[in-house]
Amino acid sequence: MKLLLLGPPGAGKGTQADFISTEFAIPQISTGNIFRENIKNNTVLGIKIQEYMNAGQLVPDELAIDLVENRLEQEDTKEGYLLDGFPRTIKQAEALAKIITLDAVLELKIEDEVIVQRLAERFFHKESGRTYHTQYNPPKKSGFDDVTNEPLVQREDDKEATVLSRLDVYHKQTEPLVNFYQNPAHSKKYFVIKADDSIADIRKQILKICQNI
Ligand code: AMP
Repeated sequence: MKLLLLGPPGAGKGTQADFISTEFAIPQISTGNIFRENIKNNTVLGIKIQEYMNAGQLVPDELAIDLVENRLEQEDTKEGYLLDGFPRTIKQAEALAKIITLDAVLELKIEDEVIVQRLAERFFHKESGRTYHTQYNPPKKSGFDDVTNEPLVQREDDKEATVLSRLDVYHKQTEPLVNFYQNPAHSKKYFVIKADDSIADIRKQILKICQNI
């Protein structure tokens, strides 16, 4: 099963991607997570992309495409995978289309205002990347990671001004993928999921869809 979760920042892609990946035993390929890992480890790639990420801009297409092409050559992707955060531009989607046709695209649909509100209340544990939300997915102890009890922080790119520019980037550069993937040559199926419901309700919708792909 080769899937793509498409949607604006803050739609809940990461949370639902974790769930799908566990439930259907397929690897989650999240370019955002891989980029953050590189920044944390101060790699050559990390140094190149840090400025873009902190400003809420997309990193150059070639870097994202190279990363995913290499990842898709690894053995664990043979039975399928879930792409989360890639492709994000038509150029990236065209590069991907040269390698595969997706089985399904799941679009998470949500209004900008709800996203701004959501991201302001999102916190994460820096070491592990575990994400929490004060309202939808609170940690057991406010402000602290459930597993390590270390303090939670806000992602640099979740600050309001950056969120607004990430949304702008989404509408201009990523939203054209909605049309691209409604073409069966690029994805066999296309589903729209209302993403302003609770995490549990969205999960139920996704489960139903994935069981029938
Ligand atoms: P995410 O965690 O998916 O919201 O990604 C965080 C940031 O990583 C984005 O705002 C971009 O700066 C960068 N990024 C992640 N995936 C891509 C991609 N496919 N193309 C370009 N930039 C990306």
